[in-house]
Amino acid sequence: MVDGQTLERETVFTGRDLRKIYITGETEVHALRGVDLDICEGEVLVLLGPSGSGKSTLLNIIGGLDRATSGKLWYRSTDLTALADAELTRFRRANVGFIFQFYNLIPSLTARENVELVTQIARSPMPAEDALDLVGLRDRMDHFPAQLSGGEQQRVAVARAIAKRPGVLLCDEPTGALDSATGVRVLDALARANTELGTTLIVITHNAGIAAMADRVFHFLDGQIARVVVNDTRVSAEEISW
Ligand code: ADP
Repeated sequence: MVDGQTLERETVFTGRDLRKIYITGETEVHALRGVDLDICEGEVLVLLGPSGSGKSTLLNIIGGLDRATSGKLWYRSTDLTALADAELTRFRRANVGFIFQFYNLIPSLTARENVELVTQIARSPMPAEDALDLVGLRDRMDHFPAQLSGGEQQRVAVARAIAKRPGVLLCDEPTGALDSATGVRVLDALARANTELGTTLIVITHNAGIAAMADRVFHFLDGQIARVVVNDTRVSAEEISW
C-alpha cells in the first residue's frame, strides 16, 4: 500500500521498489528510485511533479512501452516484469490505451478512419462511430485532421484510444498543447471514458488544477512518489480552474 492511501477497490497495477536507470555514455540517470504503488480499478489518478521527476518513465513502464531496471510490477495477477517482449506487447495491445501531448493522427485519413485503424485489429472494439460519439465528435467523423481544431484532433486521439475498450488509459500531458476551453473538452472526454466505460485513467500533467478531477494524486519528486493525496470529491472538467 502507498502510505495506506488506496481506495476501496480492486487493485489493477501493483508496483514494488520500481527503479529505472538510464545509461547514456558514462552517465547514469536514476529516473525512478524505488517506487511502490497500487492503482485501483476505475480510479482517476493524476501524476504531478517537476519536469524530470520520473512521471513519463513510470507511465511508459506501466503501459509496457519500457521496462524497469529492477523491481516488480503486476497487472492484476500477471507479473509484467516476467513477460517476454512479445507477451508484453500483447498485454499492451489488449489492455492499454495511450494519449500523448501531440495527437499523432494520420493526416490522409478521416477521423473515423483513424479510429478504425485500431478497431480493425482489436479483440472486442466498440464501433468507431460510438467512440467518436462519446468524445462529442459524431458530426465531425468524416473530417480530416487538418479540418479539425487541436482540441478536436486530441478528442479523435481519445476516441482512438478508447475504441478498443482498454482497461487503462495512460495520458501524458493530454492538454499540454491546448488552451483552457479546448482542454476542458478533452478532459471531459477522458472523464466520460472513466465514468461510462469504467476505464482506469492515469494522467500526467503540469497543470495542478487538473488534480481536482482525480480520486488520487501522486506527487513526484526526484524519481519517487513523495506524497499521495486522496480527494474526497472529484470535480468535473468544467469546474477546473486553469
Ligand atoms: P518527467 O516525465 O517527470 O518529466 P521523465 O520520466 O521524462 O520525467 O525523466 C526522468 C529522468 O530520466 C530525467 O532526468 C530524464 O532526462 C531522464 N530520461 C528520460 N528518458 C530517458 C532516456 N530515454 N534516456 C536517458 N535519460 C532519460
